[in-house]
Amino acid sequence: MDIINILPDSVANQIAAGEVVDRPAGAVKELLENAMDAGATQIDLVVKDAGRTLIQVTDNGCGMSDSDARLCFERHATSKIHKADDLFAIHTMGFRGEALASIAAIAQVELRTRQHDSELGTEVTIEGSHITDQHPSACPQGTTLAVKNLFYNVPARRNFLKNDKVEMSHIEEVFRRITLIHHDLGFTLTSNGRVLYDLKAGSMLQRIAGLYGAAYKERMFSVEEETDIVKIRGFVSRPEYSRKTRGEQYLFVNGRYIKHPALSAAVEKAYADLLPEHSYPSYFVGLQVDPSRIDINIHPTKTEVKFVDDHALFAILRSAVKRALGQFSLATELSFDTPEEFNIPPAPSGYVPPIPKVSYTPGYNPFKTTGSQTHLKMEGLERSKKIEAIEQPEDIEEMDMQPAVPAAAACMQLQGRYIVTPLSSGLAVIDQQRAHERVLFDHLSSNQPAAASSQTLLFPVNCTFSAADADLFNELLPDLQSHGFAIEAMNQTTFVVTATPAEVKEEELQGFFDQMLADYKGATMQKYRSRSESLCTSLARQMAVRPGTVLGQEQMQQLVADLFACPMADTSPSGKKIITIVKPEELLK
Ligand code: ADP
Ligand code: MG
Repeated sequence: MDIINILPDSVANQIAAGEVVDRPAGAVKELLENAMDAGATQIDLVVKDAGRTLIQVTDNGCGMSDSDARLCFERHATSKIHKADDLFAIHTMGFRGEALASIAAIAQVELRTRQHDSELGTEVTIEGSHITDQHPSACPQGTTLAVKNLFYNVPARRNFLKNDKVEMSHIEEVFRRITLIHHDLGFTLTSNGRVLYDLKAGSMLQRIAGLYGAAYKERMFSVEEETDIVKIRGFVSRPEYSRKTRGEQYLFVNGRYIKHPALSAAVEKAYADLLPEHSYPSYFVGLQVDPSRIDINIHPTKTEVKFVDDHALFAILRSAVKRALGQFSLATELSFDTPEEFNIPPAPSGYVPPIPKVSYTPGYNPFKTTGSQTHLKMEGLERSKKIEAIEQPEDIEEMDMQPAVPAAAACMQLQGRYIVTPLSSGLAVIDQQRAHERVLFDHLSSNQPAAASSQTLLFPVNCTFSAADADLFNELLPDLQSHGFAIEAMNQTTFVVTATPAEVKEEELQGFFDQMLADYKGATMQKYRSRSESLCTSLARQMAVRPGTVLGQEQMQQLVADLFACPMADTSPSGKKIITIVKPEELLK
């Protein structure tokens, strides 16, 4: 008795769908790729309920003819390759002819499409692989494909979807992987009626800023290289903006996001010891190689790639990143010698400088973590232990950190960056920025009323964020208010700022908040104890005086005094060393 039968297409397609579309984000990827393959310059993605109810992609690409509009839902129906040889010279994102057949097997799909040379387009409705309707339609040139009720006929899959937040984050990740490298195309992403991203065609750096916030423009530097086997273009993060997770690491080959552990290692190796342990750089790097020198066909979801020249690629990539890093550090060193920011206004005539107020705790030893330091909270304790373990020389306990003649100790500024002042144990070299960061951080996190340092702006400043960032900003508003900002929401995405702490530069407000949000988003993955700690760290870092800022004698004395009044005077909130002591015996040498 024969027992073998051939499965109907609808069943075969449903089985195949499992490989291509395991969750809404899988369908999103396929539809966006089809739109790009169709030569579109503007692509709009709309989702409802994280793609469960609706995934719709509209493009202004080449469109399809009446019969192609039906044929595209057949399995192995593709216009992108014709023969086996074509597999070795793939120039399109798709080529398997599986995606639409798979999606149509597990959803209700509506396709509207028009080619540029036809007056009328066509509309096709297909459900569970069966075309239920086709009729002419007056639609714009290009294609709109709407996928409704994904997995409506596959309850097992539907039930295994995670909550909307998780599914939406997968969709956003797919969106980033595609839009980052295709920055020359315009994209929008609308979720439940709200525009989350509206990305205009532009440079890669503009795209990074569009996705992650304007602050990223200052965090990145560019990597470029061109050799016979590869062309490299991209951006990698400045070492100080490394992160505690490998989240923002994107490699692309020929316009396609890939995972390639060896090439990722090449980028990280280039940083060598520029990064603290367990910190990772962010990078967005695109490689362009001859399509015949790669094999992108070894994995169904196509993120793994094999290169013929992987050893050479590794070396080229590493040295390109390394060179960019080298140029970068040279550039910052040079800028210390030529301070540009002289932002201390001349005193008005007749102005009598006030006698500097100095407050410090005379008996205080910042390195002593027990005994009289009753005000030292558990948090401080834990931290100073950790820090001692990291970087204190053994004889630190004996070091006397009191200013020699506190109120009068003269300070000298070095390279617009360091404050040099005598202590009884030697000459202290203090990093002014880190010192200020520490002072501000302690002040901000002490929850003292901030009114004293708050200043009302002459003209209110408007700041605008993406919808997702605006949500976050709203969440942080109460904290910001308690730190001396006066902010009101004008509409969903725009906020009016009427007062700020004195240290915040009004003309940099937008960048200030963008950076704060970027830090905050990054911080959720880092090991901050609380959201308020992460916020204070970010605010303090941004409000602190920058290297190159010339400080007056009083300002330096005040800063030194404030610093020594902090329980953790030796380390900045981000864990960097603030003070180096040059001992008398070293001076003797
Ligand atoms: P593949 O992309 O691998 O060819 P798909 O199933 O994704 O397979 O698409 C099948 C075919 O449908 C494509 O080869 C293309 O000819 C056509 N097609 C799909 N989406 C679009 C679109 N947005 N615009 C124009 N043609 C499209
Ligand atoms: Mg496709």
